[in-house]
Amino acid sequence: MVRTYFPKTLSEALKILRDDPAAMPVAGGTDVMVAKKPAEAFIYISSVPEIKETCMKGQDLFIGAGEVYRDLLEEPDIPELLKAAMKEVASPAIRNAGTLAGNICNASPAGDTLPPLYCMDAEVLLSHMEADGSVKERRARVCEFITGIRKLDIRPGELVTAVIIPGVREIRGMKMYYEKVGARKSEAISKLSFAGLCKREEGDSAVADIRFAFGSVGITVVRRPEEEQKLKGLSGDAYREAADSVVKDLSEILKPIDDQRSTAKYRKQVSLNILSDFLGKAGEGSL
Ligand SMILES: Cc1cc2nc3c(=O)[nH]c(=O)nc-3n(C[C@H](O)[C@H](O)[C@H](O)COP(=O)(O)OP(=O)(O)OC[C@H]3O[C@@H](n4cnc5c(N)ncnc54)[C@H](O)[C@@H]3O)c2cc1C
Repeated sequence: MVRTYFPKTLSEALKILRDDPAAMPVAGGTDVMVAKKPAEAFIYISSVPEIKETCMKGQDLFIGAGEVYRDLLEEPDIPELLKAAMKEVASPAIRNAGTLAGNICNASPAGDTLPPLYCMDAEVLLSHMEADGSVKERRARVCEFITGIRKLDIRPGELVTAVIIPGVREIRGMKMYYEKVGARKSEAISKLSFAGLCKREEGDSAVADIRFAFGSVGITVVRRPEEEQKLKGLSGDAYREAADSVVKDLSEILKPIDDQRSTAKYRKQVSLNILSDFLGKAGEGSL
């Protein structure tokens, strides 16, 4: 028989996960309910109050792993880039139940919030309970925590308790760009997606910081900081030349596949078109 748990505190949840590491966390359940293979045990975490809070700690924003999209869309501290992606997830019914942490832990390259999270160097906060009852925490970068399709660097007994946006004020000061291409306007898993951030030097037209990431064109989200680096500090013709070379490099790097939602050819060409549009607007200062 399938075992089910309904903890009411974080400490209770971590104790259950320590003693029954096969228990699968269920937040909104919007991915779990459509999974082909059921788990041996489920732990329902949506009533754990400690993971339903979003707050600033120093320069970093901590987004509770139990917070649903509907509520996160009302949070003033969450950067617009992440909100733009959250608005594109499914439909209001799914956004009433689904969570950002669930989108990360589902580890799908088509997860809509992942390209923005990669651009923001987001992290997850993981907690587990030791044999003596003490609770230990660690932080992991989302881009390292997700290791493949449905694969995470998560240890037995660990629970994601928050998603962290380090230096969120700086991120909020950057111009953003987000595109999701799906078969229809809503309730569509993306054929491809793209997120970008850009900041220009004060009183100057040079690009000070630029970041971009692609969804659904590889086994995980694709971000290449070494390509971003080639554009920093440039403006005018030098920037345009570097931007052309970055698009060329990305045409070698992106390796999408054919599947039921799209073709590799379409995914690659549209991703490169969107990248050119983003880089052009970032260079002109028209984002
Ligand atoms: C009809 C439909 C449409 C959808 N459309 C989209 C879409 O447009 N874009 C998109 O990106 N996604 C879409 N999804 C997928 C899904 O809604 C999102 O991925 C959502 O963010 C998952 O959140 P959740 O809280 O429901 O996760 P759950 O289903 O509860 O969990 C997902 C996975 O994460 C694990 N998990 C959850 N929370 C934690 C935690 N705190 N610690 C450790 N592991 C955890 C679970 O064990 C499970 O493996 C859709 C799903 C459905 C059913």
